[in-house]
Amino acid sequence: MAKLSVKKNDQVLVLAGKNKGARGRVLRVLAADNKAVVEHVNMIKRHTRPNPPKGIQGGILEREGPIQIANLMVICPECGEPTRVGRARLEDGKGVRVCKKCNAKF
Ligand SMILES: [Zn+2]
Repeated sequence: MAKLSVKKNDQVLVLAGKNKGARGRVLRVLAADNKAVVEHVNMIKRHTRPNPPKGIQGGILEREGPIQIANLMVICPECGEPTRVGRARLEDGKGVRVCKKCNAKF
């Protein structure tokens, strides 16, 4: 499986779908599905029945739905630009991502 370019807590730009152009923080990466959950992006409504014994109020709950990682672009923490990322290996063998715009490693 190819290494994913998106990691938890990355800032990403949404490239497609109803939230195209939105930016947000990655809350979760679903590697097996090639999807990620991004804060405030792809909000889906879930209707919940009240269940007082369990303390559930009921009503409509909004939460983020997963979106395809292919539709996300990482925002470089250095230059703040959405960028493609390359990969590099540090001297200690640690893999890092490289911003194709400013060459920052992160
Ligand atoms: Zn950069």
